[in-house]
Amino acid sequence: MPALLGVPFDENSSYRRGAAKGPAAIRAALRCDSTNLWTENGQDLGALATLEDAGDVDCASGSDAFVEIERRVAALLASNARPLLLGGDHSITYPVFRAFAKKYPQLTILHFDAHPDLYDAFHGSRVSHACPFARIMEQRLARRLVQIGVRTMNGHQREQARRFGVEVIEMRKWARTARLRLAGPLYISFDMDALDPGCAPGVSHPEPGGMSTREALRVIQSLRAGIVGADVVELNPDRDVNGITAMAAAKLVKEIAARMR
Ligand code: MN
Ligand code: MN
Repeated sequence: MPALLGVPFDENSSYRRGAAKGPAAIRAALRCDSTNLWTENGQDLGALATLEDAGDVDCASGSDAFVEIERRVAALLASNARPLLLGGDHSITYPVFRAFAKKYPQLTILHFDAHPDLYDAFHGSRVSHACPFARIMEQRLARRLVQIGVRTMNGHQREQARRFGVEVIEMRKWARTARLRLAGPLYISFDMDALDPGCAPGVSHPEPGGMSTREALRVIQSLRAGIVGADVVELNPDRDVNGITAMAAAKLVKEIAARMR
């Protein structure tokens, strides 16, 4: 069963804080009376024993947030839940994978993002939200990394992608009808800035020229591999307009959860 786990953490954001408010905003959007908890394929996530909520990781206790994230994810995996993380900035995906790799050493990651997040270090930090997939790939915590939505590639990150064998489907080359061939077990990491800012203005790094919410949903709904975990990160409620981005994040959470059962 999918289990929500909030990570109210944005200390590794390089440009602007606010993603720590993401989990509360996504939960509020999920419960909002303007919609319902049914998925598009007819599952009622509001029914008993369909979607667990494990609460939030304690990121303010003074202990290292990464240690705490890894511990909570490992505990969910040990109970055979399928963690669905609500971010938080994208740096959280690295400690999440330290837990996942122990149970699933052969994971494929499908990573939606305007950015490749492959910097070796960013502004002097190796745990920046611009770095998680460099850490994951250099420590071989995943077998395969497929990125979709990317439109900010630079020289260093192109070199990193080559070094780690990352399969980058850049936005400028993306054929909307192309079917991804991905074997399970599969993990989805969804950075909200993969979406076009017109669909998701509430992010810290809005990058024009992204995919629509429907295009992202279509990719998720077309996946056939078993999804064992996911995160939806980088919602920044401080930058949102009329809760559009929070609603889009909640929609993605619902449709990902529908494919995790
Ligand atoms: Mn990202
Ligand atoms: Mn991004």
